[in-house]
Amino acid sequence: MAAATIPMVWADKHQGSTEHCAACGRKLHGKPRWVEVIDGGSSVAAPGLNPDTADSGYMGWFAVGTECARRHFKGFTHIWRCRMSVLKRYQVAFCREEDGEFDVVEEFHEHDDHAAIRYCEQEYSGEAWYLFDSEGRNVNGGVR
Ligand SMILES: [Zn+2]
Repeated sequence: MAAATIPMVWADKHQGSTEHCAACGRKLHGKPRWVEVIDGGSSVAAPGLNPDTADSGYMGWFAVGTECARRHFKGFTHIWRCRMSVLKRYQVAFCREEDGEFDVVEEFHEHDDHAAIRYCEQEYSGEAWYLFDSEGRNVNGGVR
């Protein structure tokens, strides 16, 4: 089994900036990679470990350059500053009156059904929206 954590590497003077690599302190060029830091700053969580963000040792996301990503954090970096693995894809649709078919008006990612429904309630307030998950399951009550 792959390791769940590896040691975090910190630059001597890390500013907590997202424009500088957390591991070497140099200015980032291009798109950074992201590491999810736990254990009060001593460890990096493996993608998929999904550490408890309410834990007192949870530090959050830090940007690292591609060179440091390869050197120190191989297999432990994320392309986005979020856990894509736990984000689900949702589709918002409206039912056409003419034929009862659904028109998808938006696709987005959220952590769970509750968060996705909350999003729709805000964005499509007062409209007859339907929300489907990536398996086509209607998560706000109706039947597709
Ligand atoms: Zn670096």
